[in-house]
Amino acid sequence: MTPTTLATEDELTAAELIAIEEQYGAHNYHPLDVVVARAEGAWVYDVEGRRYLDCLAAYSAVNQGHCHPAILRAMLDQAQKVTLTSRAFRNDQLPLLYRDLHELTGFEMALPMNSGAEAVETALKAARKWGETIKGIPANQTEILVASGNFHGRTIAIVGFSSDAQYRSGFGPFAPGFRTVPFGDIDALKQAITPHTAAFLVEPIQGEAGIILPPDGYLAAVADLCHKHNVLLIADEIQSGLGRTGKLFAFEHENIRPDVAIIGKALAGGYYPVSAVLASRQILGVFHPGDHGSTFGGNPLACSVARAALRVLVEENLIERSAELGAYALDRLQHIQSAKVKEIRGKGLWIAIELNQPARPICEALQQRGVLCKETHSTVIRIAPPLVISREDLHWGLEQIEAVLSA
Ligand SMILES: *Cc1c(COP(=O)(O)O)cnc(C)c1O
Repeated sequence: MTPTTLATEDELTAAELIAIEEQYGAHNYHPLDVVVARAEGAWVYDVEGRRYLDCLAAYSAVNQGHCHPAILRAMLDQAQKVTLTSRAFRNDQLPLLYRDLHELTGFEMALPMNSGAEAVETALKAARKWGETIKGIPANQTEILVASGNFHGRTIAIVGFSSDAQYRSGFGPFAPGFRTVPFGDIDALKQAITPHTAAFLVEPIQGEAGIILPPDGYLAAVADLCHKHNVLLIADEIQSGLGRTGKLFAFEHENIRPDVAIIGKALAGGYYPVSAVLASRQILGVFHPGDHGSTFGGNPLACSVARAALRVLVEENLIERSAELGAYALDRLQHIQSAKVKEIRGKGLWIAIELNQPARPICEALQQRGVLCKETHSTVIRIAPPLVISREDLHWGLEQIEAVLSA
């Protein structure tokens, strides 16, 4: 029977909240047991009022810092006007987001979606249709190449070409038409391209795999090769883009221009799920009314929030901050003398500490010291604080990391 009222108590302890979550929620994550109740800038506060330096930044979705006041203002203003029209009607914010994205990135067109995975699916659909209608690949025979170690999201099509057994296990059968080549191996890509290849989908730096940088020159060689064979190069910049690596896009480190770039996460500064596919008029021109869509994609609230988030990125020089603070942090971390550490690598404020041991206990020790990090692939800790972090706060965070790794 449907109840006539729902529980309203809001003064629960962390333990009580965790118990409720464990009982009633699906267990598809293994979070640290810190129950965040509010946040500001680079800091989050748990229900008991303890503060922690956020060194994950929601997987780079809060590059602009938690609860940025300018983005909040845009969200509140827009929420009082109109939040959702659906694309059945036009709204007065979407054109302005399109224009901002064009001016900021130089891509001719954009297609807005919500989650990152949806934007990846959108790019794959565009690539397939481009393959058939522009490149002339026979119907239903386009092939898309992907890199080993990739992470592009969690839909069935996407996990179908993951090389991580757990992401796939139990979820088949999968969509055909995808083939994996080793990440960072240009010869393997060369061998894999056939007349039916429509696109190569790749993260310029692999985030979830553990901030894996390809060999120098790889992306430039990939761009050349794709161009030569009329294969679309699709850069998944959902995590690496929008300043995280010290450039607007990670692909800029090799001075290349992919045919398609996918953005999400920090596009709305953590306030709202907003993603987009950026490409040329020819590529996004393959979509005609009815070919593709999303009820929430391009809604005025999303567009207003995304515009404010992009403005913060540019006007607060967060991209330059990422380069500068990232170089400082990388240098300090690389000087740590510890048998626990196998390798420290990164670009901008996106640094991986690869350990010779499980990372989880290190994350828990850091939590005790007021620093929140999350392991990826069991032996890697990612250091990726909001780009608004002050040098003093970063210095303090690095001290805690140094202490835990040297212990
Ligand atoms: C997070 C991520 C995605 C998926 O984004 P969601 O919003 O979680 O669907 C896709 N690609 C990369 C590189 C990511 O880091």
